[in-house]
This record gives sequence, C-alpha cells and structure tokens, in this order.
Amino acid sequence: MNRVFVIGSINVDILMLSDHLPEPGETIKAGSFYVYPGGKGANQAISSARMGANTTLIGKIGNDYFGSLIKDFIGKENLNSIIMYGQKTGMAFINVDKNGKNMISVFSGANNDLREEDLKDIKIDNSIIMLQQEIPMDTIEYVIKTYGRNNLIITDPSPINEINDFVLSGSDYITPNEVEASKLSGMHINSREDAFKASEILYKKYQTNIIIKLGSYGSLLNNGNEIRYFKPSTVNARDTTGAGDCFNGAFAAMLTKTSDVNKSIEIANMAAALSVTEYGAFPSFPYLNDVKTKFN
Ligand code: ATP
Repeated sequence: MNRVFVIGSINVDILMLSDHLPEPGETIKAGSFYVYPGGKGANQAISSARMGANTTLIGKIGNDYFGSLIKDFIGKENLNSIIMYGQKTGMAFINVDKNGKNMISVFSGANNDLREEDLKDIKIDNSIIMLQQEIPMDTIEYVIKTYGRNNLIITDPSPINEINDFVLSGSDYITPNEVEASKLSGMHINSREDAFKASEILYKKYQTNIIIKLGSYGSLLNNGNEIRYFKPSTVNARDTTGAGDCFNGAFAAMLTKTSDVNKSIEIANMAAALSVTEYGAFPSFPYLNDVKTKFN
C-alpha cells in the first residue's frame, strides 16, 4: 500500500484571538486574526503529505472566494487533490480568548454535497483510505462498501455525531480520542487502565483494530491479541488543535513505508507531539525530516 487517499471535509478556518469571548450583542476587538484551511479531511491529508506519503485529498469546496483560497493553500503542499465544486465553501469561525477557551461555529457548505455519484469514476486500489465524520454518512457508507475490500480503511469517529456501527466494523482501524472512546464504549475514561478497558469493549463490539488517542498521555493500540501503550513524547505544549488529525495523517503515511504498525504509531505520536508545540492546526504539522531531526 503505497498511497493515501483522504475522502473528507475541507473548510476555511477563520480564527480571532481576543482577551475575552464576545457576549451576545457585544462587539469586541480581536488582537489577531488568521485564515487557514481546515476541516478534518484537509488536515489529515496535509499531515500525511508532509510525512512523505503520496497523498490525494478528495472533497468539495464552493466556486467562491474561499474555495480559491483553499486551492492556493493546497497548491503549496506536496499533495494531489480531486476537488469538486458544490455549494458555498465550508467555513469555521473560531474565537479564542486569552485562556485558550473557544467558541466555534461551523458551516458545512459544500462538504454536505460530497455524494456517491462524485466518487463513481474514482478508482482506488491497494491504498490507505482515511475517513472522518464531516461529510454525509451515506457517502462514508458508500466508501466502505465500494473500496473496503481492496484497501485499508482508517476511520476517525470524529466529530462523533451519528454513530454508525456498519462504518466502524467495516474499517480496519478506528481512531477515537478519549471522549469519543468514552462515548462509543459507554464507559468514562479517567485513567490509562480505563482506556485499556474501553479498548477491549470497542474491540469486542467492532472486531477491528482500535487506536485510542490519549492527548498528553500518548496513545494505545488494541489489535485483538494485545493492548500496547505508546508513551507520549515530552514537549512544551502550546496548542493541541488538530493534534488528532496530525496523528492520523502521520500514522497513515508511515503505513505506506513500513508494515510495522507499532513503529508507525510511535512516529505518529512524535509527529502529533511536535504539532502541539506550535499554534494552529495544519500550520503546526511537522514534515518527516522535522520528526527525524527532533527525535533521533
Ligand atoms: P484534536 O481534536 O485537537 O485534533 P484529539 O483530541 O483528536 O485532537 P489528542 O488525543 O488530544 O487528539 O492528541 C492526539 C495525539 O497527539 C496524542 O495521541 C499524542 O500522541 C499527541 N499529543 C497531544 N497532546 C500532547 C502533549 N501535550 N504532549 C505530547 N503529545 C501530545
């Protein structure tokens, strides 16, 4: 498997940093302002491409100003794309206060228009396919039914709105964070031991590899034979936005280079740790060389 395909969401994120968050009816002055591509699909694709995998992002944007911004950003990455047009480009408005508390409104826009018909002529074989939950569930189901047999599917159950057992059981890896693993397993995760137990419940339920992302505690893999814990890399954490996407992209990228799953998770842990040392989602995602230089 030497290619990665990400079928998922593409947004423009507009981020404003201010002292406090606005109350209804209040206008406040923002200290700084950033515009960058987001959406879990675009984030994971950028992470995979930066970690050196031949990566293709498949998704929909609007034929509008924000859509052209996305094309500009993506054009600067070493990333292939099959980008189609739908209604307006998906957008996220993010306000963050000086304590890191945030308020986010998301408009799905064109991401909601990515349908089965759009994928009909796209052939994907012997590759890794990455899915998240920001495109229509019917489309995600279609991907599993159509491509599941000849490809390895990594599904991020995030954001966890509708839970779909068919999608989760049909995936080769599912990669919840602690909150998603708690919801899917029905048990609250408060410790590493809880996470181990939750992974056992999830393995039983979905009969597939479970990777739980444990934030500053690292991650774990339950492959049905053993549960292995991967300790985090020690870094000076500044902003964890997008760490999970960075992890998934790096994990998929490493699987195109080695069949050693444990090694791939170790490196994904390192890449994700580096991503939390800088602000923003994709601007903080490392390149494979950064990871090699920092941790070798
Ligand atoms: P997001 O929703 O912001 O994309 P997430 O909640 O899905 O993130 P996390 O579990 O927070 O994902 O983090 C993903 C991975 O990033 C972790 O499994 C770990 O490898 C790494 N990581 C996150 N925070 C830290 C930290 N403080 N120190 C070291 N590594 C970290």
